[in-house]
Amino acid sequence: MSSTRSSRFRLGAALLIAAFLLPSCGRPAASSFEGQRAYEWVLRQTAFGPRAPGTAGHDSCFALLDATMRGLAPVVEADTFHYMVPSLDREVTLFNLVARFRPEATQRVLLGAHWDTRLWADLDRDPVRRGEPILGANDGASGVAVLLELARVLHDFNPPIGVDLAFFDGEDLGTDQDPNGWFRGAKQYVMRHAAEPPPIFVVVIDMIGRRDLELHWEGNSYERAGNIVDLVWGVARKMNLRQFRSDVRVFVYDDHIPFLDAGIPAIVLIQFPFPEWHTHDDVPAIIDPESLEAVGRVLHRLVSEPTFLDN
Ligand SMILES: [Zn+2]
Repeated sequence: MSSTRSSRFRLGAALLIAAFLLPSCGRPAASSFEGQRAYEWVLRQTAFGPRAPGTAGHDSCFALLDATMRGLAPVVEADTFHYMVPSLDREVTLFNLVARFRPEATQRVLLGAHWDTRLWADLDRDPVRRGEPILGANDGASGVAVLLELARVLHDFNPPIGVDLAFFDGEDLGTDQDPNGWFRGAKQYVMRHAAEPPPIFVVVIDMIGRRDLELHWEGNSYERAGNIVDLVWGVARKMNLRQFRSDVRVFVYDDHIPFLDAGIPAIVLIQFPFPEWHTHDDVPAIIDPESLEAVGRVLHRLVSEPTFLDN
């Protein structure tokens, strides 16, 4: 065929015209959240083994989070604090991290997840192994993985509002004997930033990576910050995401509670309970990249098209 040369030329000319036209189309297309990349962050975290406070995996994982965020966000703040764990009879060192995108913006949203994993597999079927720390692929690594992939996307395409990605330590230190051990990192964050203007709202993500993910309205979020639940589920509805379900099944006490108690609207996206919770079966094999992607895409759209500012 003789058309090869001329069609090649036409293609070249078309690309050239497209290249000239692109800037007039406004901003370039935002890079999109990829579930597979998030899944790789689950593997990177679980490769350290358990990230329970006081373990080697804990400190190595924090170093990775810190280095990764410093490569992606213009402002990163780390906070070191301590907690006395009664059953260990010693103090553990805890680390919070926050990465601030568009740090100059006064209107901000905080997205958070706990990065620590539980010191004990309390609910494991094998009583001998209940005293060992869990791997926490879903309970810990899944939420963090979504924040890490979100950081890449926000770095590539600066959001129109301020976005703070918060990595909370010490969420899972609580027991029946020590109820103060829950959400130490979120409590510390609220206390440390009490004098600053609060975020417009907070969305915590926890245990959001399981295959067949179902996210029902969490009871405390629905009762105490129903407008934020409506906002987030409204975004999911527009995206036709089947994972988001509109009913309350359980009330969960998680990192959103210290924010609610401080008067800051806060919700948690969580699948609770799930069969592998606080057992040695909470491993990467139960995680589905598609679940991570559904949550990541909703959060990305939430902050890149902040319709809530119009109200
Ligand atoms: Zn847990």
